Order: sequence, then C-alpha cells, then structure tokens
Amino acid sequence: MNEYQYLGLDVKTIIEEEKLPNLIEMKDVKFLTITNHSFAATSELGFIAGVISLDSFIIAIDSTLFPFTGRLLRKQIEDVFKLPVRYLFLTHYHGDHFWGVSSFNDTIIVGSEPIVQNIIAEREIQPARFESWKKEDPEKAHLIDEIDTSFLPDITFTNKVKIRDGEQCVELHHCGGHTSCSSYAYFPFEKVLFSGDLIFAKEWPWAGDPTSNPDEWINALQEIIKLDIDFVIPGHGPMVGKEEVAVQLNFLKRLREETIIILENEKSIDNIKVPPFYNDNTSGEWVKKGTLECFYNFYNNQLI
Ligand SMILES: [Zn+2]
Repeated sequence: MNEYQYLGLDVKTIIEEEKLPNLIEMKDVKFLTITNHSFAATSELGFIAGVISLDSFIIAIDSTLFPFTGRLLRKQIEDVFKLPVRYLFLTHYHGDHFWGVSSFNDTIIVGSEPIVQNIIAEREIQPARFESWKKEDPEKAHLIDEIDTSFLPDITFTNKVKIRDGEQCVELHHCGGHTSCSSYAYFPFEKVLFSGDLIFAKEWPWAGDPTSNPDEWINALQEIIKLDIDFVIPGHGPMVGKEEVAVQLNFLKRLREETIIILENEKSIDNIKVPPFYNDNTSGEWVKKGTLECFYNFYNNQLI
C-alpha cells in the first residue's frame, strides 16, 4: 500500500515533497492522507491536528495553537471534504492543542471530564503568561490577543465514548498520563490512532505538566499497544507505526524502574541512570528535566 511508504518519515520531510500523489497541498495547511478517511493536518505555523472524515460529517482532533490557525484548519478541511466539522475532540488542555478552540465554537466540543478543571485552573495564570509571551514574540501579539479560553467541552466523558456515523465509529478513550485529562481517538475501521501527546514520536516524552502521572501514562500505552493499529498520528513528531508505541512504552517503564532504584537508595535525582533513548538534542533540555523531575517526585511521594 502506498501509505506505508510514509511510516517513520518526518512529516516536515513529507510535506516538502510536493510530487507525492496523496498529499493535498493547500495554501497554509497541509493534509497528509493516511487512509481513505483519516488525515493529519500540519502547518509551517507548527501544529499537528487530526481529521477524520466520515460519511456525513468531520471530526477534528485538536484545535491548534491559535484561533487563526484553527480557522485556517477548519475552513480548509470543510472546503476539501465538502462536509461540516460536527465534533472537535480535544486530546488534552495544553495550548498547542486547545487555544484555537474558539474557531470551533459552533461544533460539539468533546473532552474527558478532567479537562474542564484543567482548563479552568489554567485561566488564572494565563494573562501573565500571555503578556510575557507577547514580549518575547511581539510579531505574534495579535494572534495571542485573539486566544479565548472561555470555552469548555459540550460533552465530557470519564472512560470511553463512541461517535457513530452510519456503519463507522470513532472511539474516544480517556486515560490520563501526559496530563490528567489526556485522551486519544481510535478509528478501528482504518486502524488509525490519534494519540495526542501520549506519543511524542521520535522525541523525549514531556511529563512536566503538574497533572502528569507516569503510572497512568504507562498503563495507557499498555492498553494502546493491544489495539489493532497501523498508523499513529502523534501530538508531536512524525507519523509513525505501532512500533513507536512500544519504544515509548519501554522507555517510560525503564525510566520508572531506574527512578525507583535511585529513590530506594536515597540518592538524588541527578543519579538516575536515564535509559538510552532518542538523541537529547531532538527536544530541549527542559523537556528532559521536566520529565525526570516528574518521575522522581511522583515515586518519591509514593514511597513516603
Ligand atoms: Zn501536551
């Protein structure tokens, strides 16, 4: 199958190759065709969003970083597929997945139950964060000013929910891990997983969120790996196959083991023997630091 040639390739590399037949090149948003109904939307503006085009409507997965990019995504998917976006599924509350939400305010917004409290808790710290962001990146000030986080999901779920359209069905699973509200979409008809940030493909997983839970993350990947999956659209990094789920799962499990050994020997975080993994340069040092601190503090609290 033609699609398989893309497995393991970097999306950025793929979108630069304009001759690929199953790439629909648009002005600002690029759609990578995964299967007949499943697409990844990428942009030089820096996001990955998912699109599932069913018989009578579209499910958008994550809203992108800005209302501006959300509008671009929405307009272009509705133009291309000649169908309305009926649902926006939010994989979690982080800004690069959620801050474009106002562009989908007339759709049915779906998220896990804990996303509500996470969105509300974030609102208190956002004004100061946005002000400092504008100072750092004044060219984006108008895009930042447009962000409206007053929206909450219309439908929440605690474990699993299905969206049906005729014979087809998309499963949404809440599992926690990367954040307490982290969820994924699984489209069994085409064996596609939209993982949100439960998978950082070919990169260090970032567990620096205050609600990150390493045990839940490991459990989530243990459940995901049981699913019949051909394609994984991650929250970050290139599209990958199921083997990447195993790579990330093994890494998280080994990091848990190494962290517990250090804690049992009453040693400091600097002594954790980090399992060999992707080149640290692929992610910032802050990613590694945040993840190690999360593991250390999480298991330290369990041992007390
Ligand atoms: Zn995230």
